[in-house]
Amino acid sequence: MSERVYQYVYGPVPSRRLGKSLGVDIVPYKTCTYDCIYCQLEKTTNKTTVRLDYVPVADVLSEIEEKLLTKVECNYITIAGSGEPTLHASIGEIIGKIKEKTNIPVAVLTNGSLLYLPEVRQSLIKADIVIPSLDAGNEQLFQYVNRPHQDISFDRMVQGLIDFSKQFTGHIWLEVLLVSGITGLAEEVKEIAALTEKIRLEKVQLNTVSRPAYEDFVSAVNSKQMKELAGLFSCPVEIIENTSLAELYDTSLSETTDQDILNLLARRPCTLDGISTGLGMHPHDVAKKLKSLLDKRLITASRAEHGLFYKTTETNHS
Ligand code: SF4
Repeated sequence: MSERVYQYVYGPVPSRRLGKSLGVDIVPYKTCTYDCIYCQLEKTTNKTTVRLDYVPVADVLSEIEEKLLTKVECNYITIAGSGEPTLHASIGEIIGKIKEKTNIPVAVLTNGSLLYLPEVRQSLIKADIVIPSLDAGNEQLFQYVNRPHQDISFDRMVQGLIDFSKQFTGHIWLEVLLVSGITGLAEEVKEIAALTEKIRLEKVQLNTVSRPAYEDFVSAVNSKQMKELAGLFSCPVEIIENTSLAELYDTSLSETTDQDILNLLARRPCTLDGISTGLGMHPHDVAKKLKSLLDKRLITASRAEHGLFYKTTETNHS
């Protein structure tokens, strides 16, 4: 068993959009500008637009460096995680330093809400791919689905996306996540599609809910509807298949250790399903390892509204 406990780096994890992705989490759990109804984490505990060095840059970089020395194989280094990464005031420095250390492309998963700030747009300039979100075509649905911080209006957010797309020379893949019966309707998607014409993007990644969401009333758009809705865009659209977990298991990732599970749970509490998806492990293997970790009292389990969540005995989300 590896002894190294990483705090900010996780994976590589199989990603539906990015293949094998080495994740870098640079904001504390549920520190976000939004509180989306479809969030697979919990309710946003720190809804903010305040940009800070939430975690020390030097520690993040030294973990990445260490991981790279292990000759880790991945398609992307992805800045994402359990909150909104552009809230980290030094995200630009982190991206720049990663680019100095490796040729592995850097992707940023962002909700795009802070791109109205010139300094945030500038901070992402060195990334290879930026994947921002646009989940609604008007203010009313934006408020309903994303429940943004009061500083962020729909018009401001959309203008940020447009301005960023003019400035950024890398790839922009716009994620549009549709929720059945709410945004997954032709008239709503037409509004989103009209906005995408103003954004210089390579493609839309049309997605829907694939994991248990925070709100019970959130459900996935079926694949037939997804295909029909994809036809409403004039730009290239990639439908993110709701691949079953089993199809995502990658034998090269199957040697997951107890420590990998502990590293993941130290960052955030997860259900068995969440661990299985996050680490690309078969649920049976996860269950066996969880039992052994529970027996050793290294983790605890507690029932929450949305399932049985496991966490390390020393988990600290502050
Ligand atoms: S932007 Fe992402 S992390 Fe933030 S609330 Fe929405 S889904 Fe959750």
